[in-house]
Amino acid sequence: MPLLLAVILIAGCWMSLYAAETTDRGVGIFTSLAIESGVRIIKFTGELVHRNDMKAYEKFIQVDTHIWMGSSGLFDDFINHSCNPNTGIVETGNKYEFWLETIRPIAAFEEITFDYSTSMVYEPTDMACNCKSENCRGIINNFADLPLNTQNKYINLKIIPKFVLEASKELIGTF
Ligand SMILES: [Zn+2]
Repeated sequence: MPLLLAVILIAGCWMSLYAAETTDRGVGIFTSLAIESGVRIIKFTGELVHRNDMKAYEKFIQVDTHIWMGSSGLFDDFINHSCNPNTGIVETGNKYEFWLETIRPIAAFEEITFDYSTSMVYEPTDMACNCKSENCRGIINNFADLPLNTQNKYINLKIIPKFVLEASKELIGTF
C-alpha cells in the first residue's frame, strides 16, 4: 500500500502540468495541483546548438557560454518568462542537464515561469518584457545587466548556472 501511494503521488506531480493559452503571452505551462517549494518539475531537453549554427529563433535556452539547447516539442519549450518567477534553473552535475525547480510554493492553476535572464550571457539582443509582475524590469537581458539586488537574490536561491556565474564574474567582477 505505501508503494502504491508513492506511485500515485509521483504520477500526480507529473500529470499536474498542462499547456494552455495565456491571455497575452501565447501558450504557457500551468499546474492543476499545488506544488511545494524545492521540487524539480521540468527538465530541459533538445538538440545542442553552437552560437555560430543558430538559425531562426527556435525556443533556445542557453546552456553554456556559446551553446544553446533547442526545441524539444515538450513542456520546456513553452515556459514563459517572469521577472517574479516561481521556478529557477538548477543543474544536476551531468553536463547540460538543466531542470526547473520551484523556488516558492505554487498554487493550483498558477502558470509556471522562470526568469530568462538567469541563463543569459553575451546575448546581444534584449527582449521587451511585459510580464505584469510588480517588479517587472521591462526588459529581458543578460544576467550581468540585472540590478545587483536581483542578481544576489537569484545567487542565494542557487538558480544561476555555473557558466553564467563564471562569465558574469568576468564581466562585472562583483561576486
Ligand atoms: Zn517582466
